[in-house]
Amino acid sequence: YHAKNSGKNNYQFYSPKVQKPSASLKTESFLYKALKKEEFHLVYQPQVAGNEEEVIGIEALLRWNNEELGTVSPGEFIPIAEETGLIVPIGEWVLEEACRQNKAWQDQGFPPLTVSVNLSMRQFYHTNLVSTIAEILYKTGLSARWLELEITESMAIHADEAVAILKDLKDIGVKIAIDDFGTGYSSLSYLKKFSIDQLKIDQSFVRDINSDSDDNDIITTIISLGHNLGLEVIAEGVETKEQLEFLKKHGCHKYQGYYFGKPAEAEIISPMIRKQEIYE
Ligand code: C2E
Ligand code: MG
Ligand code: MG
Ligand code: MG
Repeated sequence: YHAKNSGKNNYQFYSPKVQKPSASLKTESFLYKALKKEEFHLVYQPQVAGNEEEVIGIEALLRWNNEELGTVSPGEFIPIAEETGLIVPIGEWVLEEACRQNKAWQDQGFPPLTVSVNLSMRQFYHTNLVSTIAEILYKTGLSARWLELEITESMAIHADEAVAILKDLKDIGVKIAIDDFGTGYSSLSYLKKFSIDQLKIDQSFVRDINSDSDDNDIITTIISLGHNLGLEVIAEGVETKEQLEFLKKHGCHKYQGYYFGKPAEAEIISPMIRKQEIYE
């Protein structure tokens, strides 16, 4: 029996069928203490552009190491954090840590990069999102143009509200990308209403490049859609030279994937960010 999401007058009765597996309950109880115990850290994955394959951005990805559970993957704990509402404070920590690290790179003289942070549904619709982000930018000293928020198509479910939130985010100057593009909500009409900057082609389409001609069509269609709407297009999950060549040939702007580098700690990523003698 699990009552977190049920309203006050909404009674639920114990049923073995809906009982959560104990592993998940354990994960949940440890998750409550994880922030305080400093069990989270971020890893960063480079995003590259152009023929020079220069690093122009970094995606921040959350990692959780618990003494008893070991390493728990985001695929496992993010849904629990979302369900319990813990994603709001955890997500705030992620935003601040990512902005702090990005500002530190800039202060160390690296060319400025965009840091991309994933937002969950609950965070996106949380009343304090915009002011929280503004505060974090102020506190860390990072200029808004170097922060990108990744949302998913599913977050368009409350379309009018989403349009308003995205407009407020645009007003403070942050960038917006649609993550896992092509896998969610099928109506494209919202793309014109939403203030967004970038489409991220889902890695499931990239994975099958050349082995499945339908997926190749999807990729080329997404790239032209991006071009037509004046949006940047980035492909995620690029693992091979063959995939990269295909994407380049079809005018994809940016790439991210194991081919260029796996997500890693900031110290490992730093040398990949080309030092420029003079910039701006
Ligand atoms: P995502 O945002 O779509 O992130 C891309 C995922 O693909 C990451 O998995 C990354 O490690 C993995 N990846 C990158 N390049 C390749 C590649 O070439 N091949 C393959 N097979 N995989 C690649 P990760 O780090 O396990 O994250 C999984 C998902 O968890 C993310 O998907 C995102 O939806 C969520 N997530 C991660 N960190 C956060 C966070 O801070 N907040 C929220 N709300 N969600 C997060
Ligand atoms: Mg992402
Ligand atoms: Mg993705
Ligand atoms: Mg994903």
